[in-house]
Amino acid sequence: MFISDNLSSRNGHLFFADQDTTELASQYGTPLYLMDEDRIRKNLNIYKTTIRKCFGKDSGVLYAGKACAFRQLYRILQEEEVGIDVVSAGEIHTAYQAGYNLEKAFFHGNNKTDQDIAFAMDRRVGYFVIDNEEEASAVQEEAAKRRIKQKVLVRITPGIDTHTYEAVNTGKVDSKFGNAIATGQAEKLTERVLGLPSLELKGFHCHVGSQVFTEDVFERAAEIMLEFMASVREKLLYTAEILDLGGGYGVRYTEDDPLIDIETKITDVAERIGITCDRLQYPVPAVLLEPGRSIVADAGLTLYTVGSVKEIPGYKNYISVDGGMADNPRYALYRSNYTCLPAGRMNEAFDKTYDVVGRCCESGDILKVSAALPKEMKRGDILAFCTTGAYNYSMASNYNRIPRPPVVMLKNRKSYVAVRRESLDDLTSLDV
Ligand SMILES: *Cc1c(COP(=O)(O)O)cnc(C)c1O
Repeated sequence: MFISDNLSSRNGHLFFADQDTTELASQYGTPLYLMDEDRIRKNLNIYKTTIRKCFGKDSGVLYAGKACAFRQLYRILQEEEVGIDVVSAGEIHTAYQAGYNLEKAFFHGNNKTDQDIAFAMDRRVGYFVIDNEEEASAVQEEAAKRRIKQKVLVRITPGIDTHTYEAVNTGKVDSKFGNAIATGQAEKLTERVLGLPSLELKGFHCHVGSQVFTEDVFERAAEIMLEFMASVREKLLYTAEILDLGGGYGVRYTEDDPLIDIETKITDVAERIGITCDRLQYPVPAVLLEPGRSIVADAGLTLYTVGSVKEIPGYKNYISVDGGMADNPRYALYRSNYTCLPAGRMNEAFDKTYDVVGRCCESGDILKVSAALPKEMKRGDILAFCTTGAYNYSMASNYNRIPRPPVVMLKNRKSYVAVRRESLDDLTSLDV
């Protein structure tokens, strides 16, 4: 019945990480982001153990902070000894303040400004993932100034269509990210980077997309990348140590989504890499994976309080809640579907459908269309949205000057605040 095994129901109440969500709603108020810390660690450990087993000790997992980032999360990542993928000075700063060792950070992005580059070097970010020629020159210049040799990867687009939503499909030749193998640009940038004295090329990166379920996408990407690496070895006499295959494994938002077994998936990729390296007589590189969503998505749950229930005879029913596109813009952006549950009325029949909408002044402020919920939903009921750990808090805005909800962590049947609720004064704190 539940899409994730950290959900259950007891006496009509929805439990998350073994805690009564209605009690958490009254203790911390709504809207409220909950995060199951044990689940985050468990998800990280599946990647860690499997990668170590399949690829050896130089390989590893980099958590993609864009899925969700706050100081306490970086402390957990430091404890779990996993690397990170960062995309902005803000993420670097957050990790730095959390005491995270940035030697294990990989700096991504298709437009790193000169300030970003200088800031990341000041903070000793371990690796830059070079996206384009201008960036290569800018990183060279900054590294030369400091008389350091900066470790880098080059971002490649392998030319793979993942058949996911257009906005999260990043591996095609036509992409704002990376350098296509097919057009010769990948090789050209590689040659350029190899010629820059303050850069030390460690290998190659690709990221084919997000929320990917398609069979063997990562296997095909690995094979294409290895073929590219073999051709670079032949033409430029350079052998790469690292192959970073990016993130992207899909998670279950509703019962229509399959459940991906990460261990099996990674084992299949390892097998394909082994076969391909054999065929190409290429030394097996260290392999990195950069999951974001599949680490935090099912560790998250959002609670809202129902404010009004509107029935439009002959049309449909609306439930308005005290959050919406400001704390979860994913329906508005991608038409993403979620599972919505009545936290205090789990024993009733879910025999009426409602569109669950937010409180913003915007018709597109929708959280879910056609949610099946009990009859007679009313003001004060608590609604839970499942699997909101990824790309919710990190994409939240203050649209309509709505303060962002707090993030409350659940661990060992206890709870604690990791990010406090924004106050009205926080909202005006930058205004002069
Ligand atoms: C978005 C992104 C990731 C994480 O993707 P998920 O789908 O959240 O696993 C990893 N690497 C790069 C470069 C990305 O852009």
